[in-house]
Amino acid sequence: MNHIIQSVKGMHDYTPKKILIWQYIESILKRNLTSYNYQEIRFPIIERTELFKYGIGNITDIVEKEMYSFQDKKSNSLTLRPEGTIGCMRSCIKSGLLRKHSEQKLWYLGPMFRYEKPQFGRHRQFHQCGIESFGFLDPSIDFEIILLVQRILKNLNISRYVNLELNTIGSINDRMNYKKSLYLHFKKHEFLLDTDCKRRLYTNPLRILDSKNNAMTEIINTAPVLINFVSDDSLEHFEKLCKFLKKIKIPYSINYKLIRGLDYYNKTVFEWTSDKFTSKHAICAGGRYDYLSQSFGAPFIPAIGCAIGIERLILLLESLEKTWYPENFIDIFVIFSHKNIELYAIKLSENIRTAFPCRRVQVNFSNGNIKKQFKKANKLGARIVLLIGTIEVQNKTVLMKDLKFNTQKTFLIINVIQELKWFFEKYF
Ligand code: ATP
Ligand code: MG
Repeated sequence: MNHIIQSVKGMHDYTPKKILIWQYIESILKRNLTSYNYQEIRFPIIERTELFKYGIGNITDIVEKEMYSFQDKKSNSLTLRPEGTIGCMRSCIKSGLLRKHSEQKLWYLGPMFRYEKPQFGRHRQFHQCGIESFGFLDPSIDFEIILLVQRILKNLNISRYVNLELNTIGSINDRMNYKKSLYLHFKKHEFLLDTDCKRRLYTNPLRILDSKNNAMTEIINTAPVLINFVSDDSLEHFEKLCKFLKKIKIPYSINYKLIRGLDYYNKTVFEWTSDKFTSKHAICAGGRYDYLSQSFGAPFIPAIGCAIGIERLILLLESLEKTWYPENFIDIFVIFSHKNIELYAIKLSENIRTAFPCRRVQVNFSNGNIKKQFKKANKLGARIVLLIGTIEVQNKTVLMKDLKFNTQKTFLIINVIQELKWFFEKYF
């Protein structure tokens, strides 16, 4: 074979440099999720296709056009998960987690697959950090999830670049009434609808509202508005949430057009978008889905969740000044001048690793020309070089050079741990 095999369209590689940003994000996510007592759950990437059809809804963008579905060797229809909520709920019901403890606060992080048109911030394999709370009916949990995501964004230093939008879409019943009214409105103007929307008129008239066809802007703008169909119970729920947000001074705006593309949502829905992107892209989105468990034949389990798009977070972070993520790939690069010092250098590195388990220590096995070794240290992005030459071995010393500030110092090898400790305390 004499050509490079291309990766699949819309699926990306993550090189070690990208992984540095990734790990930075992941560490902040995990720290905050733990602090709100969320626990990690893992479930398969592949599920039965029908799970998504029932859960997400047949007439949604995801199920209609975006799923990676295929048949296995026994002709079962399987699908690469396009989102995590459904699999998470299925997994909790199957494992009896919700029977033992009716309240669960869970998170997961992993790849999702959607057959979308690849473009900026839109991939066919992308990653989400999903956050799901089961068993809580009161709007205080809506409030807590918003506080948690807000704290994550703050810790990532990006809260000033994002905007929180909220809406309430009422109960499933409210939405049924709304759909009927939408149907009557669009039926009157059926001759103006394009083919896609004509079909949606009979399957799911709500989806006509998502149409990007300019010819239909007018009839969409004059269509009935969902908020007028929302019942008092949902409005009260929403008012309590808004009151709490105001009290604690979390900025938000209400967007009555925010409906979300999946069938399972009810009551509160929300989205964080960023104005740093040229087109409006959500970083995180979610809402309540109190009735999803029942569509799986399980008892009523109130639920709320959201998903943070990792690639979109990375795009946002990369568009900002780069001081926030680790600058160095190697913390300590150990070099030596002759092969007979190699074991001495390895032993020193082992001691350093024991004393500083989280630091990245690399011994340069290609010994020889010291100048070349320093060049290599710079190229690899090391912060400190520890040099051991024959003189250092004789004097029981080591030379330490800080490549960032171009300073150096020689000290006794028995003091190496203490010297490094001072260095890290000062600079990290
Ligand atoms: P969009 O309106 O951008 O299509 P969505 O409503 O389909 O988003 P959700 O299903 O709510 O998205 O997923 C939650 C988050 O996952 C989004 O806010 C976004 O950050 C991210 N996301 C969704 N689809 C993609 C994709 N194709 N590529 C990258 N990130 C994505
Ligand atoms: Mg989408």
